[in-house]
Amino acid sequence: MIETDTIVIGGGLSGLFAALRLQDLKIPYLLLEAKPEFGGRITGYPVAPGSDVCIDLGPTWFWPHQTLMKQLLARLQVEWFEQYSTGDTLVQRRPDEASFRIQNDAGTMTSCRVTGGVKQLVSALAGQLEQTKIKTEHPVTVVRKSGKKWQVTTVCRGLEQNFSANRMILAVPPRLIVKYLTPEAYMSEGLVKALQAEQTWMAGQAKFIAVYKEPFWRKKGLAGQAFSHVGPLVEIHDASCSAGSGFALFGFIGVSSASRAQLSRQQLTAQCLEQLGTIFGLDALNAAATHVEDWAQDIWVATELDALEPPRHCSFDMEQHEKELEELKVHLVASEFAQFEAGYLEGALMAVETAIQTLPPWP
Ligand SMILES: Cc1cc2nc3c(=O)[nH]c(=O)nc-3n(C[C@H](O)[C@H](O)[C@H](O)COP(=O)(O)OP(=O)(O)OC[C@H]3O[C@@H](n4cnc5c(N)ncnc54)[C@H](O)[C@@H]3O)c2cc1C
Repeated sequence: MIETDTIVIGGGLSGLFAALRLQDLKIPYLLLEAKPEFGGRITGYPVAPGSDVCIDLGPTWFWPHQTLMKQLLARLQVEWFEQYSTGDTLVQRRPDEASFRIQNDAGTMTSCRVTGGVKQLVSALAGQLEQTKIKTEHPVTVVRKSGKKWQVTTVCRGLEQNFSANRMILAVPPRLIVKYLTPEAYMSEGLVKALQAEQTWMAGQAKFIAVYKEPFWRKKGLAGQAFSHVGPLVEIHDASCSAGSGFALFGFIGVSSASRAQLSRQQLTAQCLEQLGTIFGLDALNAAATHVEDWAQDIWVATELDALEPPRHCSFDMEQHEKELEELKVHLVASEFAQFEAGYLEGALMAVETAIQTLPPWP
């Protein structure tokens, strides 16, 4: 049995940031992540084989008012840039009608992007942490209370390991707590129900990306942004991973996860690429690479319910469960639990900061 003060379960943005804040406070901890890589919903498609410069496949933007994101990027010396939005937007209304241009509204709020992809933030965060304290390929299969201690079991490549701690930070979306972390054994029925009711933000979504040698749309006076009522892509943006390189377009696939599952990857890719050609012209067909990321298929992100339900915003009422969680010495810090900006990258940081404020000082 390996003992520590605090076990952090989940190595997405919230888990890694929780680890950094525990390290700041010199509180002993261990972080356990199920997947072979850190990042959770943050991942990217390398612009070249082996490159760490990536086109975002999960989150893409943060916004100017999100101060925790800006502070963290500054602390880690990770650069950011403004979303490319110069030029016209295209609208595709009907399959039998050419798409038309609308002038970009100069008053639109600026969106911000991490240079080289949001994965840069994950690498920089993980790089700040003591490597022996953060473990990938450690899916937690059982959590139980034994006296005042928490006992956590992981199965790493078939090998069971046990960990013990005074406190737990759950950096896992609500429904995955119910699915994997055996909460019926230690949480009230009401809390388990509330967790199960809370959708994992964006978990049912899928993204298509097309990588290009040149940003041909910019030369045509286009922003790379398009909206379609035809599909399969419903909203398209310039996904280039820095201001001047790693050129790409990405689109949200507006087809339900059940319908996506009926199509092979080749069929879906062909439909998406053909649509880009129809909207942006023949240059769009000459993609150097394409990729479909279907988040509904990721068992460490989406549950069956997330894949089936129409998307809705987060609404977890933390206040209602505060006392129970305090007594348990359990902190819920995935983005869905944030007081503000829940579901977003900023929410993940905010949920952690809120939890950290409640920790007793380490002796
Ligand atoms: C397609 C898409 C687009 C998005 N776009 C944006 C955007 O533009 N801007 C924005 O702000 N946000 C966006 N988001 C949301 C953003 O990705 C999340 O807010 C953020 O990444 C959440 O981080 P997290 O650490 O709270 O959760 P997660 O990233 O889900 O991390 C949870 C971690 O827990 C691990 N885990 C789960 N179960 C176990 C277990 N049993 N044992 C151990 N580990 C476990 C998972 O593997 C995962 O690594 C988007 C999300 C998606 C999917």
